[in-house]
Amino acid sequence: MKTLKIAIQKSGRLNEKSVELLKNCGLNFENYKSSLISPVSNFPLEILFLRDDDIPEYVQDGIADLGIVGENVIQETEVEVAYLQRLGFGRCSLKIAIPNNSDINSLAALNGKAIATTYPVILNKYLQSNSIEADIRTISGSVEISPGLGLSDAICDLVSTGGTLKSNGLKPFADVMSSEAVLIGRKGEENSDLIQELIQRVQSVLRAKETKYVVLNAPKANLDAITALLPGVKSPSVVALAESDWVAVHTVIPERDFWDRISQLKQAGAQGIVVLPIEKIII
Ligand code: ATP
Ligand code: MG
Repeated sequence: MKTLKIAIQKSGRLNEKSVELLKNCGLNFENYKSSLISPVSNFPLEILFLRDDDIPEYVQDGIADLGIVGENVIQETEVEVAYLQRLGFGRCSLKIAIPNNSDINSLAALNGKAIATTYPVILNKYLQSNSIEADIRTISGSVEISPGLGLSDAICDLVSTGGTLKSNGLKPFADVMSSEAVLIGRKGEENSDLIQELIQRVQSVLRAKETKYVVLNAPKANLDAITALLPGVKSPSVVALAESDWVAVHTVIPERDFWDRISQLKQAGAQGIVVLPIEKIII
């Protein structure tokens, strides 16, 4: 049987979450910092640990079958790959930022200005689509210090909390793209059995992460009101309790509805609400 290869970041912001996701998919492998390749003992898969910039091309060229990388890197390298699954981590935005005391006050005011970035391809497309002619200065890192050094009037860089901008006297000015980590594959190979099996495992882990298992006690008389608040995977399970007027209700709730639902449930008479994490949901 063919052994697949998946490329993930060797070290950096996406490494830990990528390793965690693969481990949660039930894949057994050693995660030595020194190794560049690690075989999975219970699935025909090898993990390649690479610089994130190289991942899209490795997948496009078939050196790796799959990869986990930020959308920003894919867009910047302009490769043809299949987006298989958004992964919900590594969220950030590529933004144009300007010094706090800058007189740039509209997109048009960027005309003729110098913008430093490590994302010239994406920035160029953005500027063109807004009919702006600016001077893109491509640098390989520490973009945020370039206005202070007089190298540029603005920067275009990845931002998550905005802390780095702030500490360099910069403020966000325009959103160029938002990004998160995605699972990519080689175009045309998405339907192979092994790849589908892996995608399904990944999806079951992501689904589980988005949901919580909730157990609560409720007076039998209020059961209808309570079950109306609980969507469940199909419908909630209702279990008899020793105390005959009470039941225990078991269900699964999407995390995003969580706090809303909990207060509504309490109002409807629910007690002893226990919330548990879920490892996997296979549907
Ligand atoms: P490598 O050594 O692999 O080339 P890198 O230094 O290019 O790593 P990291 O800083 O580790 O990259 O970021 C990896 C990815 O994490 C980014 O491409 C982006 O998709 C995502 N990311 C999330 N938040 C941020 C952030 N605040 N700044 C930069 N990248 C972020
Ligand atoms: Mg990189």
